[in-house]
Amino acid sequence: MIVMKFGGTSVESAEAIGRVAEIVRARMERRPVVVVSAMGKTTNMLLEIGEMAAKGKRDCLAYLGELRDFHLRESAGLGIEKEVNSQFKELKALVGGLMVMNEMTPRATDAISSYGERISSSIVNAFFHKAGIPSLHWDSRCVIVTDSRHMQATPLFPQTYAKLDSYMKMAAAPVIVMGGFIGATEDGVTTTLGRGGSDYTASIVGAGIGAEEIQIWTDVDGMLTADPTILPGGYRVETCSFAEAAELAYFGAKVLHPATVLPAIEKNIPVRILNSRRPEVEGTLIVAEAPPSSTPIRSIACKKNITLVNIVSTRMLMAHGFLRRIFEIFDRFETPVDMLATSEVSVSLTIDNTRALAAIRDEIQEFAEVSIEESHAIVCLVGENIRKIPGTAARVFTALKDINVRMVSQGASLLNISLVVAASDLHGAVESLHREFFE
Ligand code: ADP
Ligand code: ASP
Ligand code: MG
Repeated sequence: MIVMKFGGTSVESAEAIGRVAEIVRARMERRPVVVVSAMGKTTNMLLEIGEMAAKGKRDCLAYLGELRDFHLRESAGLGIEKEVNSQFKELKALVGGLMVMNEMTPRATDAISSYGERISSSIVNAFFHKAGIPSLHWDSRCVIVTDSRHMQATPLFPQTYAKLDSYMKMAAAPVIVMGGFIGATEDGVTTTLGRGGSDYTASIVGAGIGAEEIQIWTDVDGMLTADPTILPGGYRVETCSFAEAAELAYFGAKVLHPATVLPAIEKNIPVRILNSRRPEVEGTLIVAEAPPSSTPIRSIACKKNITLVNIVSTRMLMAHGFLRRIFEIFDRFETPVDMLATSEVSVSLTIDNTRALAAIRDEIQEFAEVSIEESHAIVCLVGENIRKIPGTAARVFTALKDINVRMVSQGASLLNISLVVAASDLHGAVESLHREFFE
């Protein structure tokens, strides 16, 4: 058995779904479980519609109509017009409720955004039937059991694995289709795994059914040596380790959701990133231990919209408990810290979620001075070789000699070197580093 996950662009139209059907058909004897994202940019649109509704903007109904027409158009001739229409009727009722309530709660956000994958998976399943692929549709909310942290739910693995096991035993078709991203609590309330979460669904299912491989089909040839939205023209990484992939994903390589490799590590299942437009390309193979690369690093990831928080206090000198006090505040406001640098009297750290920043600043200001600098970015060089090949840091700094590096951290994991630069220096920094290490 294998899991094959197809992202938004891979199912963005009837034509794209046609390509998916042929890719799946060619691998049918491996008994694929096909996990699909919402079509194209549907999730973004659903979230926008929800927000508009909560603000009482009636235009949202016109947007919803457009989204319905798009889905009806792309699924024309599959015999599921009635089903698509009824899904959109439910959605319209929900949106109407938001307009009355004037509020978009996390629970309502999940209810609305879940329709993207619910509808796309029905359409893909119907398409498979039309194409003569014997498939079965699972409602993901019946198999992916999560806690109730809406918009960022955590799977409850034992319950999920038990459901997958019993569903798998009953599966009477060689191909299964299900939506990614969504799940439900034990009480049956719809949840989502966070943006980009369909990759995570794929690996949860892969681990649950003991798949021999988890395939992530997307719109690029694999993990590239640089984020193509920042520096086009990077090379395909042929293979990398779970640890390297996790680090790259965490530091911004959107091609993989950061949690994806965790279930794969646990069950030691290889993950392969593939291009649904160019299925003949071998993609990137992610395994526990990858053959060493010829360069010190595998790839450069970037995280934009980073805020730098500088905390200075002379009271910190020779004192203890200072860091604990700072981190307790970030923790209480559920704000993750990415990078950290400390000296005797100061701490600099970076965050990307600034939702609670004003409150955090107020609390820290009771015992230290705080300054905040927006519009920064993290550049993260990742490779298991970093710890083995001496002189890598020297090459990084030589490559960046004309750029003001604001913060540096050679990760505790020893497989990354992370740097903070101003957002305006990001492109230049990645270009210089890529030239130094890959050209
Ligand atoms: P999907 O809809 O298939 O899940 P995503 O948009 O979530 O696709 O992820 C694929 C995108 O990730 C690529 O189009 C690319 O812009 C971006 N990306 C960022 N960093 C990398 C990288 N290092 N290698 C490949 N793609 C990357
Ligand atoms: N459709 C969801 C999103 O856009 C999940 C995914 O595509 O992975 O975030
Ligand atoms: Mg994605």
